[in-house]
Amino acid sequence: MIDFQQLANPRVRRLQPYQPGKPIETVAREYGVSDIIKLASNESPWGASPQAITAATNILQNIEFYPDGDAHQLKLTLAKHLCIDSNRLTLGNGSDEVLSMIVRAFVKPGQDIIISEYAFSTFAIIANANHANPVIVKSKHWGHDLTAMAQAVTDNTGLIFIANPNNPTGTYNTQQELQELMAAIKPHVLVVVDEAYYEYCNTMPSYPQTITLQQHYPNMITTRTFSKAYALAGLRLGYSISHPEVASIVNRLRLPFNINSCAQAAAVAALQDQTHIEQVVRITQTNKDSFYHMLQQLGLSYIPSSANFVTVDFGDAAQTICEQLLQHGIIVRPLLPYQMPQHLRITIGTEQQMERLKKTLIKLLPQH
Ligand SMILES: *Cc1c(COP(=O)(O)O)cnc(C)c1O
Repeated sequence: MIDFQQLANPRVRRLQPYQPGKPIETVAREYGVSDIIKLASNESPWGASPQAITAATNILQNIEFYPDGDAHQLKLTLAKHLCIDSNRLTLGNGSDEVLSMIVRAFVKPGQDIIISEYAFSTFAIIANANHANPVIVKSKHWGHDLTAMAQAVTDNTGLIFIANPNNPTGTYNTQQELQELMAAIKPHVLVVVDEAYYEYCNTMPSYPQTITLQQHYPNMITTRTFSKAYALAGLRLGYSISHPEVASIVNRLRLPFNINSCAQAAAVAALQDQTHIEQVVRITQTNKDSFYHMLQQLGLSYIPSSANFVTVDFGDAAQTICEQLLQHGIIVRPLLPYQMPQHLRITIGTEQQMERLKKTLIKLLPQH
């Protein structure tokens, strides 16, 4: 008998796999309900740009061919959209892959990676999987305490992960806070700013302009994704913006053809349809404001969010409410893996979906 647990890398043995939101099919099967709405994974209920879907569909005629391993057209289009040189871009199979490649490229076994309490859980998985030590710094009002994170830096620190905005709390750090952190730390510590929700919050005046900050701080790396506002989560495409040399080093680890041809074509078309993104961002904000209002009416407190989800405090009833919502065909995200048992994370859906959520919550919370 082989003891595979013993055979496994000690760090891997201790890992808990990432727990994604329940897929619609799973809930349909387990609960015998239909007409399910998923407000659990911060996906866009408005879907991708129709042009992106057409582009991806057309590519299916030619899928016997390998994709362009260099994703030339996509990189050119993306660089133009961001007003940067394309040699600062690294593409990944989701931004998750980019985060992982950055750690593999730069963090040595046994080095520390500084992560905030309540930060996106993939950070700790990536750290452990790559033989680094996650060092967890206490949060401030559910958000990243960048002063404390800067103070946590030692000679053994390889990298700092900052999710801005953070998932699952929706909190964000300002340009000023980020600048102070960068000024306080040594330049050999890499700072990765995960901006998965960038499109939803970049117009806030205090939101950091990391591409510009990188000119002063070449140890800063920004990651973004096509999974959220661009609604291409199923195609898996994310990227980083960094110093060209960082990009060139990370690129050595990139497996050939990590970006499939549908993703490349869809992303080019999606970037050319900014009207779609603007509409999505606008309606999300409107629906988020209505949702805040509804939560206030229901007497529920929540963490104000700069992204397309809101994390709501249901107190001791949270897990029961989560289960009852599933029975009513509404999937939200429990936050037990984040040690936030009283909170549920709810993605902003369409007006109709939010109305149904409201009606169901009124039924489930009898005191209102
Ligand atoms: C969703 C999310 C991502 C992952 O995005 P992919 O590009 O789909 O891998 C990264 N970071 C945060 C904070 C997220 O919420």
